[in-house]
Amino acid sequence: MESGQIGGFLGLKQQGDQIAPYLFTRPDELNDLCLGDKDRPGDCRYPLVKVLFDLAARFPKEVFGLMARGCDERALNVLINEDRTSPLHKDRVVVVGFSCPEELANHCQCHKPWPDQMVAGEKTKPVILAGQTGAETLPDLMEQWLGITQTCMKCMGCKNVCPVCVCQECTVEQDALVPQRQLPPTPNFLITRAVHMVGRCVYCGLCEEACPAGIPLKDLYRMVSRVLGQENLLPVSPLVQDADQSPEQTVMG
Ligand code: SF4
Ligand code: SF4
Ligand code: SF4
Repeated sequence: MESGQIGGFLGLKQQGDQIAPYLFTRPDELNDLCLGDKDRPGDCRYPLVKVLFDLAARFPKEVFGLMARGCDERALNVLINEDRTSPLHKDRVVVVGFSCPEELANHCQCHKPWPDQMVAGEKTKPVILAGQTGAETLPDLMEQWLGITQTCMKCMGCKNVCPVCVCQECTVEQDALVPQRQLPPTPNFLITRAVHMVGRCVYCGLCEEACPAGIPLKDLYRMVSRVLGQENLLPVSPLVQDADQSPEQTVMG
């Protein structure tokens, strides 16, 4: 920042008991940079890449630093590599990556709680996920999920918090594809969103944490990927098999 390489650093700031995203623009402010809260591991996660996407659009000439966990880096890669008009470009982001604490990795059931671009520290032990479970065909999937989708209140929390959901016009908000103003929503509301996540979901779990109905959305997205024959795109499958494997043994997408 001092050298002018970046215009601002997007990270987390602690103020009293609160931790929230913050764009640091002066080096002296970085004393308040916070890596998270080990005591409340789920309380300090935000879709920083989504915030960065908006910042990059708003300040098209700036380069930004980004405090990145494993899932932040994965989401950043998705948005940079996608064939879409995106304000994010690899030359506009300097990643400062760090591994998550083990408590957080366990909380997230995370298969890769570290980014490739780590600046310091050790890789945290991952939760190894492997194997297959749940539906194998579309009818199986629908049967399994019909009851669950009835509990959705269509608050859009899952979409709004998702770091890779950045479309200006969202399919699940179009009447022709998904009937609007209808509760409970038709099952194709959740299934359509799940289909759009194939090959894009980075399994950060923010959608599940945001869902007031407690719907296990990560499981749905994995199952839809498998039913559509896109399992090879998955970073992991849903069953926890062996949490003792070393980070190097982890399957990564
Ligand atoms: S999903 Fe993984 S990388 Fe992301 S916050 Fe949780 S433990 Fe960290
Ligand atoms: S967050 Fe949960 S309740 Fe809200 S729209 Fe998404 S799945 Fe439905
Ligand atoms: S886990 Fe949920 S919030 Fe995270 S990338 Fe996948 S769909 Fe988006």
